[in-house]
Amino acid sequence: MARSQIRSHCNRCQGETRHRLIEQVVREYDKTDQWDNYTEWTSTYRMLECCGCGEIQMRVEYWHSSHELDEDDWDYYPPRVSRRIPDWYSRLPRDWAELMREVYGALASNSRRLAVMGARTLIDLYMAATVGNHGSFDDRLDRLVTEGFLAGKNKATLQAALEAGNAAAHRGHTPNVQDMGLVMDIVENLLHTHVLEIDAEKLKANTPPRPPRPAKTAPAPSSVTEPAEESPPTPDA
Ligand SMILES: [Zn+2]
Repeated sequence: MARSQIRSHCNRCQGETRHRLIEQVVREYDKTDQWDNYTEWTSTYRMLECCGCGEIQMRVEYWHSSHELDEDDWDYYPPRVSRRIPDWYSRLPRDWAELMREVYGALASNSRRLAVMGARTLIDLYMAATVGNHGSFDDRLDRLVTEGFLAGKNKATLQAALEAGNAAAHRGHTPNVQDMGLVMDIVENLLHTHVLEIDAEKLKANTPPRPPRPAKTAPAPSSVTEPAEESPPTPDA
């Protein structure tokens, strides 16, 4: 890897990729406290460009002489969980689309608890629209499978996303960057399928039906072989 290239998370590529270092500024600080303890620390600001997609990010790395800091303590602008709202979101029902925008806004400000709670609500809206409101989450998940909205093998995945939302709402749990990405993958997958189903219904409505096939036993009339307008005029008898 070239000296000016470093690895960093890319939101658009959704993973760690090689980045080109565009600019770097290091700020150094130090302090001696009232008990004569000397400490020093640095903040390194790096502007990086993804070599895969060209996305730009600012990464701030911290070092402190008296306590250990690692990559989880670094700051990223935009945050690592931030992702682009998919183009198809506007084809969702209006209240779902509005909530989608709020969820992606929460991701952009690294508010992962709010984002995962919003993601859980999106799944709830989807279930209400497809299998109704009655019954526990588990019952409704089962109905999604039995009524053909969800493949049985995907039930556990959706359950995991719902559980992450529950944990954030009731136990103050903050999902890590990878888990948050996984929850969003699950929600996007579910809602995109819903959008495609709506599109398929529209496509069906807009497509003219096939003309009925002529019966096999009926002989083709001879006039069909020559278009009427090209036939010579027949004089009246
Ligand atoms: Zn990228």
